[in-house]
Amino acid sequence: MSWKNAAAGLLGFIVAATPTFAAPERLEFIEPHMGTLFRIVIYPPDSAAAKTAARAAFERIAELNRIMSDYDPNSELMRLCAQAPGTPVPVSAELFDILERSQEVAEKTHGAFDVTLGPVIRLWRETRRTHALPSAAARIAAQKATGFKHLRLDPRGRTATLLYPHMSLDLGGIAKGYAAEAALTVLKHYGIPCAMVAASGDLAVGDPPPGKPGWQIELNPFGSNPGAPLTLIIAHAGISTSGDTEQFVTIGGVRYSHIIDPSTGLGLTRPTAVTVVTAHATLADALATACSILDPASAQLLADNLDESVRVIVHERNADGSTHHTSFGRAPAGLISTP
Ligand code: ADP
Ligand code: MG
Repeated sequence: MSWKNAAAGLLGFIVAATPTFAAPERLEFIEPHMGTLFRIVIYPPDSAAAKTAARAAFERIAELNRIMSDYDPNSELMRLCAQAPGTPVPVSAELFDILERSQEVAEKTHGAFDVTLGPVIRLWRETRRTHALPSAAARIAAQKATGFKHLRLDPRGRTATLLYPHMSLDLGGIAKGYAAEAALTVLKHYGIPCAMVAASGDLAVGDPPPGKPGWQIELNPFGSNPGAPLTLIIAHAGISTSGDTEQFVTIGGVRYSHIIDPSTGLGLTRPTAVTVVTAHATLADALATACSILDPASAQLLADNLDESVRVIVHERNADGSTHHTSFGRAPAGLISTP
């Protein structure tokens, strides 16, 4: 054996005997939260600590749900909504944070995304149950109790004030992205930066999987379409897809989405889905909802003028059932394959 081969043999022995050189194992954990399934995929450097880390990440999601749920009358959000109008209510750091981010998106989208749509969304949920459109009177009454300008946030006392009677908040268009991002932060604190947290269409990803440039995300927003899905590679990013594939109601042959157009108070009827990729999952979630409502020219103007780099992909169904994708906006650093 030459000295070179001997050295290679020795190196081979060292590699095999030292566990730190082994590729991290891929682990997956799934739990139901926020009315959907949250999936955590991690490549932990030390698999012994992985379960504890995943447990802590799910606990964080559950904690955020206790704050932000509009289904639970005891959530912090619902307790805020129950206060007399005009009362400044001290709120948790998390609730203040998500409301602040929601208001920023509301301002920038001129209210297309609006978490004060609670009364209209509640009425719409009733429609989805009964398959009967709300009366014009009911719709107008609900719309009267909405408007992001009637939600006041004061950072000094960390208070939120609902200025009008009968207002209610709904964080359904942003909370899953927020929770995915928060769970990713928990995993990082536990020494697992190589992670993905997915809440159906809302995902937050950290470091790429070992040996890969990023996480491979397959987009097939209309489900059973012919043709290959659109594949993106992302790292250190948030990605959200909003569409009408899962939650919708058909009335009189018209298919209405669970995303509400604030100008009509009705679910969207445009058969599109929108994906947004940006550095943060919270913003991606809110913008995917907002860009579903905005017309394409307004969505493009929005994407071009935001401080953060945001890539928007609009998916449309062709007559033959295949999907057509159009994209615009600046690609964030974490979008490795640009569509
Ligand atoms: P998904 O829940 O499928 O991820 P979205 O992120 O688009 O989809 O969120 C849709 C939810 O957002 C609705 O169920 C409702 O709770 C809320 N919502 C509906 N319309 C709006 C709107 N115009 N602005 C803010 N939130 C909305
Ligand atoms: Mg959303």
